[in-house]
Amino acid sequence: MEIKTRCPVCGQEAMSTFLVYNIPNFGEAVLTSISCQHCGYKSSDVILTEESNPKRYTLVIDSPEKLDYRVIRSSHGNIKIPELGLEIKSTGFTDSYITNVEGVLLRIEDDLKEKIRNKQNEKQIDDLIKKIRELRGGKTKFTLEIDDPTGNSAIIPRQSD
Ligand SMILES: [Zn+2]
Repeated sequence: MEIKTRCPVCGQEAMSTFLVYNIPNFGEAVLTSISCQHCGYKSSDVILTEESNPKRYTLVIDSPEKLDYRVIRSSHGNIKIPELGLEIKSTGFTDSYITNVEGVLLRIEDDLKEKIRNKQNEKQIDDLIKKIRELRGGKTKFTLEIDDPTGNSAIIPRQSD
């Protein structure tokens, strides 16, 4: 569903979209996003209809199937992968998404590639990207943690589990 709205930055007309996900064994999640053609402003967030208490999820990925577990990250979700020494703190304006564990790794990888393009710590980041690719292979055990003070983030097993 798409509706017209006002851009919170420049005040001109912008588009807002709502996508409803029906997640088995879990419930509904609504992904909202707003984008402004005039100034380029973009933001998104996830709202889970049932929970609003602080939540912390920890998933140990020790089989390739778990790479396919569903991950919901709201704009307040902090992500941690201790094995990589990686922590992605929410800034309150963070990109939100509904994806799977592998999708989270891909997003992190894309962000790191962006940093390399900007010539930041090339060697260090390159090593990190190599490790992430290893994790995506599903043969190396690692941990994904998400904590969210608003309770709008989650890690959800696939229905067959
Ligand atoms: Zn704007």
